[in-house]
Amino acid sequence: MRLEQILGIEDSDIVTFENDHAMVSKHFRIHQAIIPQLELLCEKAWSDGIKLALISGYRSYQRQVTIWDEKYRGERDILDQDSHPIKEFNNDEEKFCAISQWSAIPGASRHHWGTDIDIFDATSLENGYQLKLIPEEFSGNGPCEKLNHWLNQNLSSYGFIRPYFSSTENHMDSTTNRDLSRKSTTLKPISIEPWHISYLPLAQDYIQYITAEKLINTWSRFPFSASDWAKNNVQAICKLLGT
Ligand SMILES: [Zn+2]
Repeated sequence: MRLEQILGIEDSDIVTFENDHAMVSKHFRIHQAIIPQLELLCEKAWSDGIKLALISGYRSYQRQVTIWDEKYRGERDILDQDSHPIKEFNNDEEKFCAISQWSAIPGASRHHWGTDIDIFDATSLENGYQLKLIPEEFSGNGPCEKLNHWLNQNLSSYGFIRPYFSSTENHMDSTTNRDLSRKSTTLKPISIEPWHISYLPLAQDYIQYITAEKLINTWSRFPFSASDWAKNNVQAICKLLGT
């Protein structure tokens, strides 16, 4: 295992994926080691009357830096919890915390590993539903309510977990997840992303390999806007990776 692989800097194990019974987004790639189980997951869903949409898989470090820097420089909107752009910040800390509510800090995203995937109900998208990726979509009368139930029943049989969602906790209110105050200068844990699945056998190796020291070294080699702030908050950032 090499650090560059885990941080999304080196992608020799990352491959494209296709499945006739799933909707796979353009540019979607994952770690080649998870293909057999992902195939099985897609087929099982299909046989149970659910077509999976694979929205987002691997993301490179550089891609995350680009997103991060554009937000930091004001070239992309930084949104509050109601998806409205925030126009002003009192200091860099506020800005950093606001960006991190919606965008992973480069190096500290599970999507760098190729083991994690954002999924959705493909049928709703084919019927014209505009994807938002908010928790409500997986509850009540949301388009992924059936998928949510199916995931609870089937996901673990294929080695996957939902690291940012607990089916036993009844907290599907998005405001508890995106608890974004304009004055916030603390990093909030990512707690509710029912669409985010992770292949545990591989992901658990990666998470154990990443340390605060390795992240700090990486940010020194490949800096981004406010990466010095990240260095000073590395312990909290490590917690965002989940378990
Ligand atoms: Zn995700």
